[in-house]
Amino acid sequence: MHINLLGARVDVVDLAGAVEKVADFVAAGRPHQVITLNPEILYRAQQEPGLLDLINRADLVTADGAGIVWAARVAGTPVPGRVTGIDLMLALVERAAREGWRIFLLGAAPGVAEEAARRLRAKHPGLVVAGTQHGYFKPAEEVPAEGAAGGTAVGVPGGSAAVGGACAAGSEKVPSEWDVVEQVRAAKPDLLFVALGAPKQEKFIARHRQSMGVPVSIGVGGSFDVIAGRVARAPLWMQRLNLEWLGRLLREPRRWRRMLVLPRFTWLVWRNYRWGKGNRVAGKG
Ligand code: UDP
Repeated sequence: MHINLLGARVDVVDLAGAVEKVADFVAAGRPHQVITLNPEILYRAQQEPGLLDLINRADLVTADGAGIVWAARVAGTPVPGRVTGIDLMLALVERAAREGWRIFLLGAAPGVAEEAARRLRAKHPGLVVAGTQHGYFKPAEEVPAEGAAGGTAVGVPGGSAAVGGACAAGSEKVPSEWDVVEQVRAAKPDLLFVALGAPKQEKFIARHRQSMGVPVSIGVGGSFDVIAGRVARAPLWMQRLNLEWLGRLLREPRRWRRMLVLPRFTWLVWRNYRWGKGNRVAGKG
């Protein structure tokens, strides 16, 4: 079951329910996209019809963040609670280790996906990591489909020559988006975690899910950085008080500009669902 929030699909699931849905997707085999939706993206989707469409074409959309849970309540269509990218990823990795599902970690700075994989394997000895690849490859727009690997690293954190994942260590080459798609396809994972930041990761998955052929692809934002120990998560008391956003802001002050969207989102939700005649936007869909 799902609701319509400001024109976007949000599934009425808790963490356990989301894991079960993913298990069904893995069993079904054809490509599925999972989105953990936060207020920033939902707000942006109001101005970007293509993004709204992409969200509505996903197979599972969870409420990532207290803002979405609050908005669903104001709209009169509550959801059970938050299902964040990192919580869903950790629960799925645990399940993957038990079920023998193969996972692939794509994204973050060179070395981070490998370190995250190493730590996950240490925690879950049976876990099969089908591959890892950093997230600073050449975008498809810059490399025609026929174009093979190559080029220089542009804006790669940790140095221009740094290339991690399945690429040869020390190589000057940076893979293209097409190489990465091929690499994922060839690795045949059951679950693909994509950490490129939202909505870049959602667009990447939507663009390539058919050619990659992975049963479940899911965008997980900065989760690899947290799992690899590069970025600390907000303390548990802050998470429980729905103040994780504040914890992030204190640790990464550069995020303040992005957070300006939160009061706008609040206003939009309030205007649509409290001051309008009932559930205006949802009524349209
Ligand atoms: N990232 C990446 N390639 C890019 C841009 C970002 O791999 O071209 C990674 C970045 O290193 C970080 C993650 O994507 O690990 C984004 O994390 P953030 O917390 O900003 O994601 P959000 O929570 O905004 O989705």
